[in-house]
Amino acid sequence: MMTGLLLAGCAKNDNPFFEAYENEFGAPPFEKIKTEHYMPAFKEGIKQHQAEIEAIAESKDKPTFENTIVKMEFSGDLLSKVSSVFFNLQSADTNDDLNKIAQDITPVLTEHNDNIYLNDKLFQRVKSIYDSKATLGLNPEQDRVLDKIYKRFIRSGAALNEDQKAQLREINKELSTLELTFGQNILAETNSFQKFITNKDDLKGLPEGIIQAAAESAKEAGKDGQWLFTTQKSSFIPVIQYGENRELRKELLMAYTNRCDNNNEFDNKANISKIMKLRVKKANLLGFESPAAFILDNTMAKTPEAVYSFLNKVWTPAVAKAKVEAAELQKLMDAEGKGEKLEPWDWWYYTEKLRKAKFDLDEEQLKPYFKLENVRKGVFDLTTKLFGLKYEKLEGMPIYNKDVEVFKVTDADGSLVGILYTDYFPRAGKNVGAWMSNFREQFIKDGVNQRPIIVNIGNFTKPTSDKPSLLTMDEVETLFHEFGHALHGLLANSTYPSLSGTNVARDFVELPSQVMENWCWEPEVMKTYALHYKTGEVMPQELLEKIQKVGTFNQGFVNTELLSASILDMDYHVKKDTADIDAKAFEKASMDKMGMIPEIIVRYRSPIFKHIFEGGYSAGYYSYTWAAVLDADAFQAFKETGDIYNKTVATAFRKNILERGDSEEPMKLYKTFRGADPNPDALLKKRGLK
Ligand SMILES: [Zn+2]
Repeated sequence: MMTGLLLAGCAKNDNPFFEAYENEFGAPPFEKIKTEHYMPAFKEGIKQHQAEIEAIAESKDKPTFENTIVKMEFSGDLLSKVSSVFFNLQSADTNDDLNKIAQDITPVLTEHNDNIYLNDKLFQRVKSIYDSKATLGLNPEQDRVLDKIYKRFIRSGAALNEDQKAQLREINKELSTLELTFGQNILAETNSFQKFITNKDDLKGLPEGIIQAAAESAKEAGKDGQWLFTTQKSSFIPVIQYGENRELRKELLMAYTNRCDNNNEFDNKANISKIMKLRVKKANLLGFESPAAFILDNTMAKTPEAVYSFLNKVWTPAVAKAKVEAAELQKLMDAEGKGEKLEPWDWWYYTEKLRKAKFDLDEEQLKPYFKLENVRKGVFDLTTKLFGLKYEKLEGMPIYNKDVEVFKVTDADGSLVGILYTDYFPRAGKNVGAWMSNFREQFIKDGVNQRPIIVNIGNFTKPTSDKPSLLTMDEVETLFHEFGHALHGLLANSTYPSLSGTNVARDFVELPSQVMENWCWEPEVMKTYALHYKTGEVMPQELLEKIQKVGTFNQGFVNTELLSASILDMDYHVKKDTADIDAKAFEKASMDKMGMIPEIIVRYRSPIFKHIFEGGYSAGYYSYTWAAVLDADAFQAFKETGDIYNKTVATAFRKNILERGDSEEPMKLYKTFRGADPNPDALLKKRGLK
C-alpha cells in the first residue's frame, strides 16, 4: 500500500501540470512538459472538475448566482491548464503521439462536457436562478453570463428526457471522433504530397527566391540538386502564380484541391456523409429543423434565411465581376495564340500577368519590403498609436519550439496587458493556416485581473540561408488579421471567463481581426513598416501608389471563391433529412445552383473544408463576409474623422468592442461604438462591387 501511494505521489510530483507554474507571467513550463504528462493530467483534471460540479449540483443550499453560476465559471482549473497546452501544441507542433492522445481524450472530454450540461440537478439549480432573474438585482455582466450558461444547458439537451439525453451523448461522442479524423486526414494528405522537380526548365518564370527555397526543401528531404514543392500554400501558390509550365501548375493546384478526395485511407467524403447525418439528428433532437437553424440561433445573424439573403447581396455582384475578369484573362491567353481556354490553374498565372500589365506591379518587387519582423513591428507600432500599447521582447521565456518568440505587452500607464507568443513558420507538425489562441484566459477573480497569454500562429514564407522571411501581400494581411484576434484576447476585461475576449458570437469574432486589415495598406501605415530588408529604405512612393490602385483588382475572383464556400457550407447545413450524401455530387449541385463559373474552384472543396467539418465554422463560413461589413463600416468611422489614428474613435473601439468580449449582445456593442447600424456600402465599395 505504502509503495503504491508513494509511486502515485511521485508521479504527480514529476508532472508539471500538478504544480503552480513558476514563471512570473504564468507561462507553461514547456521544457518540462513531456508526452506522458498529458493523460494523467487530463484524467485528474476531469476528476477534479467533476467533483466540483457535483458539489455544486448536490449542494443543500438554496441556489444562488454566487454558489452556482460563479462557482461553475471558476471551476476546472487543472483541466483548463492541461487542455490549453495540449490543444495548442496538437495544432501547432504535433506528432503521432499527441495525435493519438487527441483521438483518445476527445471523446472522454465530450462525455465530461455532457456530464455537466446533462446533469439534471445542476440544470434545475441554474433554471431556478434563471427563472427568478428579475428579482436578483444582477449587474449587466452577471445577467449576461447567466443567460449564456442557461442557453448552453438548453442547447446541450438539458431539457430533454433521459432517453433523448442518451441519444444525444452517443451523437456527440461519434461526432467528435469523426470531426477529429476529418482534420487529421487533411494533415496527413497535406504532408504526404511531395513533388520533386529534377529539370530546372520546369521552373521557368518562378522567382529566384522561390526556386532557392524549393532547392533547400529538397535538400532537407535528402534530394540535393532537386526542387521540392508541396501542397502548403507558401510552396505551391508561387508556382501557380508565376510558373510557365502549365502542366506543373495544374498538377500542384489539383493536388492541393483534391486532398482527401483520392479514394484512399485519408478520403473524407464518407466522413462528410456521416458527420452531416449526426448533425441533422442532433438538431432535430434539440427541436430545430436543420443544423443551420440550430447553430444560427446563437449568432448575430439568427436564421438561415437572414444568412442566405445577406450572402446573395454580395454573391450576385461578385460573380458578375468575376465573369468580367475571366473574359479579360481569356483575352490575354488568346493573344498568346496557343488556343488555350482559361482553366483554374491559369487564373492566378494570367492574373499576375494582367496585374503587371495594368499596374506594373509584381509581388516580387514588393516582397523585399515585407520582412516579417518589420511587418510585425508595423502592427505593434500601429497599436501603440491607436491604444498606447507597448511591446518588449522577452528572452528566456519557456517556448515549445525554436521558432516561437515572446513579447510582454503593457498599457500606456505601464500596467501589464498580457503576454504574446508568435509562431510564424510552417513545419510538418503544424496545421495549415493561421490562427490565434491562448494559453491562459483573462478573467477577474477575487479582485485580481488575471492577464491573458495569447498566441498567434502562421505558416508564412520561411527565411532561407541568405534571405529573411519576406512576406507576400496575402501574408502581410494575414499577420495583421491574426494580430487583431490577439488584441481582442489581450485587451479583454471581463469578470467571467465565458464572457472574456474572443468568446463571442462567431459572426462577430472576425470584426477585431478584419478591421486591422484596413490599416495595413494605408500609405501612412506602410511607410512605418514597408522598409527594404537590406537597405532599410522606405518603399518608394511609386510602389505605394501602385498598391493603392490595385485595391479592387481581382476582387471578383476573391469574393466568388469565398462566397461560394459560404453558400456551400449553408447548403450542407440547411439539410433536414438523414439520407446518405455523395459529397462530390452534392458539391456539384450546390455550385450549379448558385451559378459558379468553371474557371474558379470553390475556396475549399468539401473534403478539405476543415472550417465546417472539423472546426467551429459550420453554418458559419459566411461570418467572414458578415464581419467584413462590420469592419469596413468600423474603419469608415476613422476615415470620417480624416485621421486613421484618431484617438477618440480608437478608444471607443477599445472600450466598446475589444475590452467587452461577450458582455453584451454584439449588435448592441457595435451600435454603441458606431452610433448607428452597420452599413454594407463601405464593403461593396471597398471590394469594387458597387
Ligand atoms: Zn480570423
